[in-house]
Amino acid sequence: MASITIDDVTKRFGDSGNSVVAVDDISLEIKDGEFVVFVGPSGSGKSTLMRTVAGLETQSEGDIYIGDALVNQFGPRARDIAMVFQNYALYPNMTVQENMSFGLKMSTDLSKEEIEEQVTSAAEMMGIGNLLDNKPGELSGGQQQRVALGRAIVRDPNVFLMDEPLSNLDAKLRTTMRTEINRLQNDLDVTTLYVTHDQTEAMTMGDRLVVLNYGELQQVGTPLECFYRPANQFVAGFIGSPSMNFFEGHLEGGTLQADGFDFDLTGQMQSSVENQNEIVLGIRPEDITLHERANVNYEFEAVVDVVEPMGSISYVYLRPRTQESDKTFVVEADGKQPITEGEHINVKIPKEDVHLFDAI
Ligand code: ADP
Repeated sequence: MASITIDDVTKRFGDSGNSVVAVDDISLEIKDGEFVVFVGPSGSGKSTLMRTVAGLETQSEGDIYIGDALVNQFGPRARDIAMVFQNYALYPNMTVQENMSFGLKMSTDLSKEEIEEQVTSAAEMMGIGNLLDNKPGELSGGQQQRVALGRAIVRDPNVFLMDEPLSNLDAKLRTTMRTEINRLQNDLDVTTLYVTHDQTEAMTMGDRLVVLNYGELQQVGTPLECFYRPANQFVAGFIGSPSMNFFEGHLEGGTLQADGFDFDLTGQMQSSVENQNEIVLGIRPEDITLHERANVNYEFEAVVDVVEPMGSISYVYLRPRTQESDKTFVVEADGKQPITEGEHINVKIPKEDVHLFDAI
């Protein structure tokens, strides 16, 4: 087990005239035993950052430490990490038993019996003890991913690195495996870096999220910190589903005129905003109500555009009731509340749930 230190790491691809900055001057401390999720849209640098920790890429600048050891010059094998990938990366001609024991045979001097014992124990842990004689081609995607995880466990590494390990599984299996990985990480207490583009996966896994965009660090925090106290408009829009609604406008005399609505911001904390004139106001769909609620500060009239019933809730897409605005925003409503498209409806926004940002 080990901590990981990423110190001012930058990774550029290509020559100087035509280079892409995949990772832009990132520093991070990951504690021993911590489960950290790198999350961001496709191309935000998550995999590249993880691959530099693995030693599969060499950073252009900066240092990487595993525990106290500076590992810049170490190849992947010397870093004592185990990796799990989206495509499982199993050897097709080997049985599950052989796949799981291969790494141990190569890197330790354990006896055949000791290796067998460890493989059996890891296979039991992953619920694949009955599949040890099968080849990967005979297994479902979920079973193959269990083998890949079992193979990582059996190595007993300092660090687990997982790059989108659940992307190839169907939605139901993804949820099951998500829980299993959480349980496994809890039981084994091994420092784990996990890459995903899926904000739901990120919210439900991991002690801390590292939110990336265009290779730049946007926020590091617990899932709830990123949700309730997003550092900027990007994080606010990325974490949470459906996305936070944004109203962008001009602040004058304490009133924000944004997309057909007037928000009185007098007395509102504006410390998160640098430009005091051009402001984005954010409100989550679940914080807006369409029926009575006490202590509501903003109340507007809007027109129902589309209703998406989801069962116990529905997503109601609305437009401000002004001629000039074509803005739409979404509200999470009680699924039982009868709402019809074209209806005029009162929208209620509590001031305390509003977030303020600089425009991106
Ligand atoms: P993510 O994992 O968030 O999808 P990546 O780390 O794969 O993002 O990619 C970050 C950026 O670096 C992207 O612009 C991508 O095109 C670029 N990139 C990644 N790997 C290479 C490579 N081997 N050669 C050139 N550009 C690369």
